[in-house]
Amino acid sequence: MKKGMVIAYPEYDGLYLNITNRCPCACTFCIRKGDEFNNVDTLWLEREPTIEEVEQAIEAEDLSKYKEIVFCGYGEPTERLDVILAVSDFIKQRCSLPVRINTNGLGELINGKKIAHLLEGRIDAISISLNSSDPEIYEKTVRPIFKEKAFPALLSFARDAAKYVPKVVLSTVSTTITAEDEEKCRKICEKLGVTYRIRQYIEPKKNEK
Ligand code: SF4
Repeated sequence: MKKGMVIAYPEYDGLYLNITNRCPCACTFCIRKGDEFNNVDTLWLEREPTIEEVEQAIEAEDLSKYKEIVFCGYGEPTERLDVILAVSDFIKQRCSLPVRINTNGLGELINGKKIAHLLEGRIDAISISLNSSDPEIYEKTVRPIFKEKAFPALLSFARDAAKYVPKVVLSTVSTTITAEDEEKCRKICEKLGVTYRIRQYIEPKKNEK
């Protein structure tokens, strides 16, 4: 497998930060399963970048080109909570771009502690993949190492995060679940006090290389 050190890359209107390849899940749809589905040479990292390297990668960019900075990774960014906290402080000192985390919502299980309060003033938005309202469907789709603890932990994190982060979005992907399941997801989000979004299914772009 080809590896590199792509730490920051443009995606949509944002500057995306690739800080880890680790993830406690094995989603059936994960694009990491096929390295040919990338818009950059590779997001597999030779090694995880240090905080300084992530900051240097941001400094090397013309930030006026972007509308947001996103902790993403070809993996789960909360595996590197220390990097998220330090680098978001760095970003807030440098510019006014909103900072978002794309996450599976399992950061509290990963870190073995409450983390939502640490995001206050650092993170402006969190996007969490909900996948389904049904814990069994969720577990079959996401295949988390935490098994049945994962789904309730995701919901608990979303509820907590809404107290500290201005925008928390839980999403499912269109065509992957039933309309009834989507309605249940909407109700779950209402109860949690977060936004529900149905993302359009996008066929991954095949890398011609
Ligand atoms: S949570 Fe994200 S990175 Fe992890 S397996 Fe699922 S899609 Fe892949």
